[in-house]
Amino acid sequence: MGFVNAPVNLLGLNRPQLEAFFAEHGEKAFRASQVLKWIHQQGESDFQKMTNLSKGLRDKLSVVATVRPPEVIADRLSEDGTRKWLLQLEDGNSVETVFIPEKGRGTLCISSQVGCSLNCTFCNTAQHGYSRNLSSAEIVGQVWIADRLLGREGPGSHQRVITNIVLMGMGEPLLNFDSVVSAMELMMEDFAYGLSRRRITLSTSGVVPMMDRLKELCHVSLALSLHATNNELRDQLVPINRKYPLEELMEACRRYVDGSPRSRVTIEYILLDGVNDRAEDASALVVLLRRVPSKVNLIPYNPYPGGGYRRSSAEAIERFRSVLIRAGITTVTRKTRGEDIEAACGQLAGQFKDRTRRSGSVDGSY
Ligand code: SAH
Repeated sequence: MGFVNAPVNLLGLNRPQLEAFFAEHGEKAFRASQVLKWIHQQGESDFQKMTNLSKGLRDKLSVVATVRPPEVIADRLSEDGTRKWLLQLEDGNSVETVFIPEKGRGTLCISSQVGCSLNCTFCNTAQHGYSRNLSSAEIVGQVWIADRLLGREGPGSHQRVITNIVLMGMGEPLLNFDSVVSAMELMMEDFAYGLSRRRITLSTSGVVPMMDRLKELCHVSLALSLHATNNELRDQLVPINRKYPLEELMEACRRYVDGSPRSRVTIEYILLDGVNDRAEDASALVVLLRRVPSKVNLIPYNPYPGGGYRRSSAEAIERFRSVLIRAGITTVTRKTRGEDIEAACGQLAGQFKDRTRRSGSVDGSY
């Protein structure tokens, strides 16, 4: 990290990493907190404007470091207030980030990979193949950009508009573990975004070994994309199930919240007409969740060009929900947001090159 190297992008460095960076340059550790605040609380990318650093240090940083977010190439606003950004990365790939305003809170949905390797049959991202993992700077960069563009909650306010972050955009976050954890550490860091671990939700298709590691290293809220209650159907819909079948997956969910009495796993369940939306499926779900402290999010399927499924009818959704409610399971039907700008769940596509279309086989894909 000397003068001869390309400038280091400080955007993705968490506190210990930034402290190490300053130590290497003969600076004290508290510089890390100062710079974190400038970057993530003030949204400042110009070292010369970081006025509590000496002129000498500002000049040095301008040479050896940079604060370089992805570039916004499209910014679309839905009728319902949902906003979607297409962000271009340095290698020409791009990913999508979505902001969903709700009463009393604002949720930012971010991506963790360019594309996805998992081949879930109902997901638009999968149709486009997989390109690569995002770096932690590219993951945090999405938060940095959205936070800056959304401004503050009213004039004179310091209150951020983003109150919650979900890793539910493009990609499987647990297959990009290290960068995702580094990025989430910055989201929780007091000198950066200061979010509590409960306000960050990582959604996974069920990479079992990584669920245990996540609990150890960064115990954020967990959402599981379940979508089926038997292995035969889940093998088809979410092919990684062939590697980590339901029995193991449910055990892993139980372990994740074990020992934290107030925690529950959010179970995401897409309702696909005629595929997984019968009352029997709902009853099977009740049985499956018996040992897992959980709440259920029912997601009406969002169509996209070339997608082969239909959304369940309102009656089928209601019937499914009432079976769960009667069994005492907290159940919410997720409202579809931002459909008019292709910002709804499963509709994120991005634009990328070097894609490798995955075959139906899961062997060796991860
Ligand atoms: N790979 C992770 C993160 C992506 S999250 C995971 O699988 O959880 C994206 C969420 O949107 C998941 O719950 C996913 O199953 C859901 N989803 C994907 N395609 C969808 C579609 N067409 N309609 C509704 N939800 C969809």
